[in-house]
Amino acid sequence: MFVLGVDIGSTTAKAVIMDEEGRILAKNIIPTGVWVDKAIETVRQKACSIAGILPSDIDYCVSTGYGRLRVPYMDAQVTEITCHARGLHSVIPEAKTVIDIGGQDSKVISLDKDGSILNFVMNDQCAAGTGRFIDVMSRIMDIPIEEVGDFALRADEPAAISSVCTVFAESEVISKASTGVSAENIMAGIHLSIARRIRGLVGQHNVPPIAMTGGLAQNKGLIAALEQILNCSIVVPEDPQIIGALGAAIIARERMMEE
Ligand code: ADP
Repeated sequence: MFVLGVDIGSTTAKAVIMDEEGRILAKNIIPTGVWVDKAIETVRQKACSIAGILPSDIDYCVSTGYGRLRVPYMDAQVTEITCHARGLHSVIPEAKTVIDIGGQDSKVISLDKDGSILNFVMNDQCAAGTGRFIDVMSRIMDIPIEEVGDFALRADEPAAISSVCTVFAESEVISKASTGVSAENIMAGIHLSIARRIRGLVGQHNVPPIAMTGGLAQNKGLIAALEQILNCSIVVPEDPQIIGALGAAIIARERMMEE
């Protein structure tokens, strides 16, 4: 028996294939791009070829993410909130709070001790506090996204980035750079600005242990900025970007067993 979990996000499409015993046979991440339907097909194809099986060998598929309703081969669709909670609980069972920051949205989910969802808050209206904010800054400062966090960690005097809007913050960054503020200090200011936005979202939902998922959990500079602003430590699972797809695969396996 093979099950597939796919998470079609605004920025990346992720897939996890699991066998009957719950072993992960394949996981992969591709950019969603403009042609979402193509990414939906490619991410399944790639996962199947890594697992050494055919798409027709998949017995059950759960889709999640903003594009979940467009997946033609899914048997069921489940919200990202549920999938991130399930995926995270399977790898860090003690976590009580999940901060998920993706390409164009951010969420904070509160979990019970058995991993069930107590409540959640979400920002999908404003680019500040999401990956989009760092992606824009990475592009204008010509620093690859994989390196922005390391730049921030090398800062000695983080710049004050006060604009809450991505467009105004972009002008602020350009003006700071023109007055000689170092890329390291500007990057640290950008990371602290995102961390403050996330603190606003976290509000009262800050019960430790706090874990982080989503693409931005790979950014060590952001983890450090969040730990500073939230005044707590943050646990990051292995492969934080595929946690939603992992949760979808876990749910697919359970449903398959029930049938
Ligand atoms: P979504 O599910 O909303 O499509 P993801 O959770 O896949 O988004 O996160 C995508 C974001 O993760 C990108 O916008 C980028 O900012 C960030 N990202 C991706 N890879 C890395 C990396 N290696 N280091 C730091 N940030 C990364």
